[in-house]
Amino acid sequence: MNTHEYDAVVIGGGIAGFLAALNLVDAGFKTAVISRGDPVCCLSTGCIDVLSRALDPLKTIKELPEDHPYRIVGKKGVTESLAYFIEVMKETTIPYRGDPKKNREILTPVGTIKKTCLVPETMAHAPGNNEDHIHIISFKGIKDFYPSYITSRISNTEFSVFDAKSVSTIGIAGRFEDKDFLRNFISWAQDLDIPYGKVALPAVLGLNNPMEIVKELSSRINKEVFEIPTLPPSIPGMRLFRALKSVLQTRGGHVYWGKTVSSVERQGPRIEAVTLAASGRPSRVYGRAFILATGSFVSGGLFALRDSVKETVFDLPVFVPGHRKDWFNNDFFTPGHAIEKAGILIDSSFRPKESSLENLFVCGSIIAHSEIMKNQCGHGLAIATGSAAAKKCIGELS
Ligand SMILES: Cc1cc2nc3c(=O)[nH]c(=O)nc-3n(C[C@H](O)[C@H](O)[C@H](O)COP(=O)(O)OP(=O)(O)OC[C@H]3O[C@@H](n4cnc5c(N)ncnc54)[C@H](O)[C@@H]3O)c2cc1C
Repeated sequence: MNTHEYDAVVIGGGIAGFLAALNLVDAGFKTAVISRGDPVCCLSTGCIDVLSRALDPLKTIKELPEDHPYRIVGKKGVTESLAYFIEVMKETTIPYRGDPKKNREILTPVGTIKKTCLVPETMAHAPGNNEDHIHIISFKGIKDFYPSYITSRISNTEFSVFDAKSVSTIGIAGRFEDKDFLRNFISWAQDLDIPYGKVALPAVLGLNNPMEIVKELSSRINKEVFEIPTLPPSIPGMRLFRALKSVLQTRGGHVYWGKTVSSVERQGPRIEAVTLAASGRPSRVYGRAFILATGSFVSGGLFALRDSVKETVFDLPVFVPGHRKDWFNNDFFTPGHAIEKAGILIDSSFRPKESSLENLFVCGSIIAHSEIMKNQCGHGLAIATGSAAAKKCIGELS
C-alpha cells in the first residue's frame, strides 16, 4: 500500500473543494484534493450565481432562512470569498468580472435572459438591455445552441452561420485552437461586413485561452465580441474547472484525479486516513484534517434510497425534509423541490452536526438547506462555503 501524508485532505474536486484547497495552500498547509471525476461545474454556464433570484445578492443574504449556509458564512465572509475568487482567476486565462452587490443579465442559447453575478471576461460585453444590435455568428449543425430562438425572442438580433466542419461545442472549441482555422474564420467574419452593434458567438472560442481569441477577433472585425453559454456540456464550465485545478497545482496543491475514497480509518473522534480505490496498489492518504466537498445528488456525494438519503464517504447523518411523501417529486430539476433541502447539517465551525468527528469540515452543495436551484446560488455557495470551511480547518491545523 502506498502512503501519503498531508495537513489537509479535501475530498471532492468541484468549485467548493478547489476553493477550500486553495485557501489552505495559500495559508501554507500541505494539501491534497481527491476526486472521483469531473464536477457539476462542467455542466454549468461558467457564470457565478451568488443569489440570482435577487437584484442585490449580498443584501439579500439576510432574508434567507437562518439555517441557509450563506447565513452561517455571513455577508462579510461571502464578500471576501468572492473577492478571493476574482483574484485567483486573474492568474488564469479566464479572468472574471462582476459586482457581488448587483446581478447582471446574460443571454442564454435559447434566447431567454439569465441573471447572474460574476461572468468570465469572454461574456463581459453581453448587453444588459435590448437596445444594442447583436449579430450572432453560429456554426453549421451545432448542437446545444439555437440562434433562431434568440432572434425570434430578442429584437435587434440577426445571425450568420459558419461551417466549422464539426457539430459539437467541444469539437468547434478545439478547432479554434488551430491558428489556420482562426485565420480563415476571421477572414470570413470580416467579409460579413457587419455594420454596427456587437457580435455574439456560442461559447466555443477555444478551450485554453479564449480571451486571446476574443481580443483578436474583436480587433480584426472592430466590434465588441462576447460569448453566449451553450447548453451542457459547457465549455466555460470546463474552462473554469480546469483553471482552478491548474492554479491549485501551480501553487503546490496535490490532486488525485479519478480516485474514489473506498474506506476511512478512524481513531476515536478523529479521521486518520482514507484509502483510494485502485485496480493495482491502493493508496492510503493521511491527513490532520479532512474537508468533505463531494457535492449533492448529481455528483454522488448524496445517494437517495427509498425512504432516506445516504452520505457516501463517511456515512454522516443526512438531514431530509420530513417523510418521503413530503419530498418525493419525479422531476429533480423542479426549483423548490423539497429534496433540495437535504444534506449535512453543519455548525458554525463547518463541522457536521450530529457527528462526533472533530477533524472533519463540510462545504459546497452537500450542505443541508442550500436549496441551490430555488435560490440560484450554485457556484457562489461553493466559493463561499469552500473558503469558510478552509478557514475553520486552518484554525484546527494551527
Ligand atoms: C445542469 C446544471 C447547471 C448549473 N449551472 C450553474 C450555473 O450556471 N451557475 C452556477 O452558479 N451554478 C450552476 N449550477 C450549480 C453548480 O454547478 C453547483 O451547485 C456547484 O458547482 C456545486 O459545487 P460543489 O463543489 O459543491 O460540488 P460538485 O461540483 O458536485 O463536485 C463534487 C465533486 O466530488 C466528487 N466526488 C463525489 N463523491 C466522491 C468520492 N466518494 N470520492 C472522491 N470524489 C468524490 C465528484 O466527482 C465531484 O468532482 C448548475 C448545476 C447543474 C446541475
